[in-house]
Amino acid sequence: MEDSFTDLQQSYFVQYVADHGYYWDDDAKPDGVFVDKDKKAGLSPPFLIESPDTTGYYSKKILEKPALFLEFAEVEPTREGILAFANEYGMLNLAGATEVLSPVYSFPSGGPMPRRRGLGMGVYHNRYKDGRDYFSVFGEPLRYWQEEIRDMRRVVALWNWWREGDADSLSQVIRWQGNSVSYALGDLEEIRDWFSGSREKGIELGHLAFPGFQDWMLSRFRPGDCFLPAQYLLQKKINEKLKVHHTKPWLLMNEKNRLEPYLYPDSLIAALWFQFYQAVVGEKKLKRCSVCGKWEDLTDRTERQRERWTRHAKCANMLRQHRWRERRKREREGASNAAEES
Ligand SMILES: [Zn+2]
Repeated sequence: MEDSFTDLQQSYFVQYVADHGYYWDDDAKPDGVFVDKDKKAGLSPPFLIESPDTTGYYSKKILEKPALFLEFAEVEPTREGILAFANEYGMLNLAGATEVLSPVYSFPSGGPMPRRRGLGMGVYHNRYKDGRDYFSVFGEPLRYWQEEIRDMRRVVALWNWWREGDADSLSQVIRWQGNSVSYALGDLEEIRDWFSGSREKGIELGHLAFPGFQDWMLSRFRPGDCFLPAQYLLQKKINEKLKVHHTKPWLLMNEKNRLEPYLYPDSLIAALWFQFYQAVVGEKKLKRCSVCGKWEDLTDRTERQRERWTRHAKCANMLRQHRWRERRKREREGASNAAEES
């Protein structure tokens, strides 16, 4: 996004990150007045919670990193992997996070409340009859993070196979049977295991079209072709996420006092799916560096520059130096071997 829209008073989308990071809490319980009673049973620890040492928040302009959704897709879905990402970018969906009570945020009943700024929602007096008061905070279950990472990873993989023309991989996902086409979404190994009978759950199965269902779409597909159905599946999966994680149109006043359009995500997870949407419709051009593997935003380059770009200048330099050192080493070794032989 343009640098001109950096004034926070204009409600530019920023993500707040606790200054002392986050931790996994195994003893936190979903509880309090704001907790969703229906969802409560499905919410189990550990919960990701901001550190009790929090004194304030960093603000991150997530939309200035348009390839962040690709980093998110590659987050190791473990406590460590998720924590590292959260410490950098904050919680996924603060508005959707649940209220939790934890011993970490408790203090002796009637005693002074620990010094703390932030997002606490209230104090529950002696809730568990243990002589302690509980200060409620927001938490996000590990499982929620793992599911969101898995969903992003699967759809990103689908997108990559589709745009790279990888018919072999797509033929695992898009499955024709006569006149009907269905899909199996998962990692390729998961899909293979499922169809060989060695896996019972964990992949997503669904119909795309068959006679009597989505005929308008079926008429566009060529029987046996994987690419158009894959494109349709990509559209469908991204739309499903955009439907629950909202990005809304917003007005911003620029430095010339003119109104400009702006799109404002509700949360970090909404911002990530919005970035994916922007990449798919071509508003953002991203390429992966062949050396460090990180994604680079090439939107502002010309078509020709984009085609030629394969790596960061810094990475290319490092690679050259590395090769040079390797060659010197071989030459020295060669020279000493020759000396020994003579
Ligand atoms: Zn690089």
